[in-house]
Amino acid sequence: MKTYDKIYINGEWVSPVTPDFVNLINPATGKVSGKVVRANEKDVSLAVKAAKEAFKNFSNATKEERIAYLRAFANEYQKQMEEVKQAVTMDIGSPKSFNEMLHGPGGLAAINSSIEALEEIELETKHGKTLIIREPIGVAALIAAWNWPSMMITVKVSAALAAGCTIVLKPAELGTHTAVKMAEMLDTINLPKGVFNMVLGSGSKIGNALTQHPDVDFVSFTGSEGVGIQIAENAADTVKKLGLELGGKSAFIVLPDSDISQVAQMAVMAVMLNSGQMCAAASRTLVPASIHDEFVQAMKTAVNHLKVGDPFGDADIGPVVSQKQWETIQYYIQSGIDEGADLVVGGTGKPENLPEGFEQGTYIKPTVFGNANNQMKIAREEIFGPVATVIPYKTVDDAIEIANDSPYGLSGYVFGPNNQEALDVAKQLRTGFVFVNQLEMDPGAPWGGYKTSGIGRENGIWGIEEMLEIKAISSNE
Ligand code: NAP
Ligand code: MG
Repeated sequence: MKTYDKIYINGEWVSPVTPDFVNLINPATGKVSGKVVRANEKDVSLAVKAAKEAFKNFSNATKEERIAYLRAFANEYQKQMEEVKQAVTMDIGSPKSFNEMLHGPGGLAAINSSIEALEEIELETKHGKTLIIREPIGVAALIAAWNWPSMMITVKVSAALAAGCTIVLKPAELGTHTAVKMAEMLDTINLPKGVFNMVLGSGSKIGNALTQHPDVDFVSFTGSEGVGIQIAENAADTVKKLGLELGGKSAFIVLPDSDISQVAQMAVMAVMLNSGQMCAAASRTLVPASIHDEFVQAMKTAVNHLKVGDPFGDADIGPVVSQKQWETIQYYIQSGIDEGADLVVGGTGKPENLPEGFEQGTYIKPTVFGNANNQMKIAREEIFGPVATVIPYKTVDDAIEIANDSPYGLSGYVFGPNNQEALDVAKQLRTGFVFVNQLEMDPGAPWGGYKTSGIGRENGIWGIEEMLEIKAISSNE
């Protein structure tokens, strides 16, 4: 049991003005794993004030100074990587195997990619006789979702520090264990007081105070579309720049003549990892009609190999993050059944044979629907769970049209025997990112969505540039 009773303001761990507590639940067991304090609007004001004050000096930090802080952050992260992984599992129930692959190293890779990017960015250039200067935008409010608890914080914080901004971080309440670990690391690297601040608390209670605050210059938000729209409205009142990383309904296009069993395994991974709680989840699988039946059977085989259970043990898939999320996913699975998609594997309820002590965890049966169409709710709305929706298509042009027929435009996947053909299809997708014949991504490559998936880009040079203002100085020099 951990108690998080302090927030981090102006270089100190302090009690909120009026502390109020809420329990944290371990999603793997349903048991209480700790409690966390909830700050209020007054604490938000104090954090913004500290960040604004600190900006006066920190905005003059040289590139070398900023890189030194980022290196110190990376070193600290490297040292505490095991604790980070533990915290991620306490927060969201991510299995060990996935922590090794992503939640642990991914956070470090994000910091390192900000360092490399800052080394490359030229902060002063000339356009003819005009001097062009890239300056930090000011106080950055960073609001994170819980599904990548370590990476999302390192991506945002490292970009803001690289840009020379000062920070008020509002992590997701469901990611508290990890967020506090990150703040503890940042506390050790001797940043000037007020450069990094963290308020804990409920987004619906303190979010508006942060995103409406006149002294916040930039808002970086990752989360749901509804909250993103609210934040954009708030930001409009004071003409703030903002970055929104919202939802997705990404299509995984299987091209004709693909290796069915191999590609089916990839399609399953791309939607089920992290219990499907990925903005980029490949939640629509588009398959040539002629191989549909064989393909869904291969997906079923792949799903049957996945072990669901204790994330601290040898499970491939842990629970989903909360009871509320579990219920939402149940609703979508039922809606797929009601709308007439074929239930190939999985379904409603919890998996049978959960290990002893884990029966109260929020586990989902990994589910595949076949013979779905693109108008069904399970094809249009983000489920955020391990649920695949397979849609048959006639021609590759149809597949592209179905893929693009979505309010979202975050990512896409194209798999096929001919890489050039797959690349040609990738270019026709209206999404910010496309995976072609593999599932890796470079942490320094831009990440962000078209359409309702968001505004702006994160990662590498692109993420830092979002937090820079551009000044032109015209003179006779
Ligand atoms: P969410 O409910 O929108 O919450 C995200 C963050 O916003 C949390 O820190 C939350 O705080 C806070 N928040 C809630 N209400 C707020 C308000 N009125 N003002 C300001 N902040 C507020 O989203 P979620 O359920 O945590 O995350 C899942 C969503 O994130 C999915 O839609 C997913 O696709 C998206 N996502 C996108 C990306 C991407 O890169 N595009 C990556 C990952 C996830 P509390 O925790 O206290 O509620
Ligand atoms: Mg957009």
